[in-house]
Amino acid sequence: MTKRIFQSICFAALGVFMVSMALFMGVLYNYFSGVQYKQLRIQTDLAARGAANEGLGYFEGLAMEDCRITWIGPDGQVLYDSRSDTSGMENHLERKEIRQAFETGSGESARYSHTLLERSIYCARRLPDGTVLRLSMVQNTWITLILGMLYPLCILCVVVLLLALVLAFRLSREIVRPLNDLDLDNPLGNDGYQEITPLLERIALQQRQIRSQKEELRQRQNEFGTVTRGMTEGLILLDGKNRILSINPAAMRLFGAEPSCQGRYLLSVNRSLKLQELLQKAGEGIYAEMVMELGGRNYQMDATPVISDGLVSGVVLLILDVTEKEKTEQIRREFTANVSHELKTPLHTISGSAELMANGLVDARDFPVFSERIYTEAQRLIRLVEDIIRLSRLDEGADGMPWEEMDLYALAADTVQRLRPQAEAAGVRMNLCGSPVQVWGIRQLVEGIVFNLADNGVRYNRKNGSVTVAAEAERGGAVLTVADTGIGIPPEHQERIFERFYRVDKSHSRELGGTGLGLSIVRHAARLHNARIEVESEVGTGTRIRVHFCGDSTNSYCSWGISSCPAAPDKKGPSEL
Ligand code: ADP
Repeated sequence: MTKRIFQSICFAALGVFMVSMALFMGVLYNYFSGVQYKQLRIQTDLAARGAANEGLGYFEGLAMEDCRITWIGPDGQVLYDSRSDTSGMENHLERKEIRQAFETGSGESARYSHTLLERSIYCARRLPDGTVLRLSMVQNTWITLILGMLYPLCILCVVVLLLALVLAFRLSREIVRPLNDLDLDNPLGNDGYQEITPLLERIALQQRQIRSQKEELRQRQNEFGTVTRGMTEGLILLDGKNRILSINPAAMRLFGAEPSCQGRYLLSVNRSLKLQELLQKAGEGIYAEMVMELGGRNYQMDATPVISDGLVSGVVLLILDVTEKEKTEQIRREFTANVSHELKTPLHTISGSAELMANGLVDARDFPVFSERIYTEAQRLIRLVEDIIRLSRLDEGADGMPWEEMDLYALAADTVQRLRPQAEAAGVRMNLCGSPVQVWGIRQLVEGIVFNLADNGVRYNRKNGSVTVAAEAERGGAVLTVADTGIGIPPEHQERIFERFYRVDKSHSRELGGTGLGLSIVRHAARLHNARIEVESEVGTGTRIRVHFCGDSTNSYCSWGISSCPAAPDKKGPSEL
């Protein structure tokens, strides 16, 4: 800006100077030419008077170097010329000043010579004898004037130029200084030029708008940050070149990336070929997804292209942990296969036995045996179907089942009572320990927990063994203990016995009428009650399973010591589920 002002001032100053000079020269030239005309008129008058009185003799010895005197007769012939020989001179009647003088008594004219550098001015008077006397003078034209003054003019131009440069420099700085000193952070606080007040007001308004937009943007960013920070799913926003614009902590953890990875290419954070293919597809504007293994877990990556004006301007990458989902899917598949298998075995037995009987291939004496087999298998089927129904109800979260306060000890006593005939038949002694203790839960499910554990204690026992069921209060809740002196569970199976259809010894379990679902039901029901299960078992010695009804299983403290109950094996620490 300073430069432009500087140039403008320079040009303006020089322009004004040139025009002034031209005008000045014009005025000067006109003035001098007027003076010359005046002199020429006076001289012509004097010469005319002298010539009229003295004739040609008047011009003899007359020193008039500046003027040329010509005397013309009435016919236009030159009678006398102070510079040239009159004999060769042409008739002057047609000359303007001569014609005028003949007509009016005086005449004037001016004519350029061969070049434009000189001009002759003429002044003529008619004498009383009818002749005309003309005086002429050579006058410099304005070009000659300028050429004559070229040197001083050049010096003047240089001086003016220098002066204009200095002044323009200083002026431009002075003009621009208030603009440079403007405090744009506080536009309305400036007291510079009045003319820029609207501009400053506009700036102030725009600054206010920018501030409020920035604030809104910051709030939105904070909201977005808070949402994405709290997400367990990974979320990455990429630009059109797959550079990371935003990455939430969950995604950083997954890729083992630092917060500084923002701005870097995602493929420099993870070079997986699958990810590369995914991003390539998204870059073509196609939604893409894939499952990728990271740190031993399975993650589903959904890449959604962001399209604006028909071009892919970015990609939103959502990363979901599908390990559990896949595991659940696997369990469901296994469960379906197991259910079919479990149902098929007793159905085959029933159908086979019934077919033999129907075809008369069974001896009448064997009828009870076959009937017994059909009955046993039908019973197993009924138990199996009941257990499956129970499990599926638990899978749905036991919706609609009523919660109530109940006495765990009373439930234990009922169960012991119910199982006593079965236990006696197996030669197993049933004990009941503890004292009344209230728990909050779904009666049917808590009953199921106690029954399944005690039933297992009887079934996987030995002759003359015992099963002790205890219920008592503990800090923060109640604990149910079922301890037996049975066959025990090998350590490698202890973790898995709660899985559906998992049995340590398949044929033995089937022989005993087990469905393989009892402990799964126990685990589900315990989870619903926020209860924690502990298993302690030793092969050949026995098993002790405890269920801690603690309200909140993560914060509660549950004690192990039940001195009133028979000691179960404690060589091995308890395993928790
Ligand atoms: P099942 O109907 O076969 O008893 P469960 O789910 O109740 O099914 O138990 C799963 C497996 O755990 C059983 O097949 C058995 O091998 C083992 N088990 C459960 N309870 C005991 C126990 N008290 N003593 C020894 N083994 C047990």
